[in-house]
Amino acid sequence: MNANMLMTRVDHLPVMESFLTIQGEGHHVGKPAYFIRLGGCDVGCVWCDVKESWEAEDHPLESVDSLVNKVVESGVEIVVVTGGEPFMYDLSQLTKSLKEKGLKVHVETAGVYPITGKWDWICFSPKKFKQPLEEYFRQADELKVIIFNKSDLKWAETHVEQLKNTQTHLFLQPEWSKQNEMTPLIIEYIKSNPKWRVSLQTHKFMDIP
Ligand code: SF4
Repeated sequence: MNANMLMTRVDHLPVMESFLTIQGEGHHVGKPAYFIRLGGCDVGCVWCDVKESWEAEDHPLESVDSLVNKVVESGVEIVVVTGGEPFMYDLSQLTKSLKEKGLKVHVETAGVYPITGKWDWICFSPKKFKQPLEEYFRQADELKVIIFNKSDLKWAETHVEQLKNTQTHLFLQPEWSKQNEMTPLIIEYIKSNPKWRVSLQTHKFMDIP
């Protein structure tokens, strides 16, 4: 199944997992949220911690109606659509149905496919392994850069230079396996570059999904 075929499946999506949890990172850290993790990603990050999401075919298709019912039953206000790379699919029907229920819809993306659907929050997390699209520099509410090497701090700044939205919140987040090494560097960097904030994967410290 190629990406174009997947784009046509607007009312059924490959779902790796969906669950109620706490948003562990970024601007909305600490808030309860229902996560929908879609299968399928062709970005290929070497340090990816959800490699089992990469093959869309490994994950059963689920209807948008079924997903929306689960979110409503959970009783939370925020839905986070993540992956994988969620924008491999046309998410117009999903966001329309969620917003009709009065829910806030957030997405976490590497920004390599066009934005579809209407979003309350776009977390843009660019990756070195695939060039992001220009529209993300206009539409991102949050720029979250994963720091795996010291040189990624300089790489992060190249993305800030391209942002068109001065309101975009800026986060530097240590890659989980390198956090002992990278966190002190990030702390020092932010002390002298205060436009940035630290993001930690607090859900991993709390041992929740
Ligand atoms: Fe993994 Fe996300 Fe990178 Fe895809 S974009 S390879 S899911 S970290």
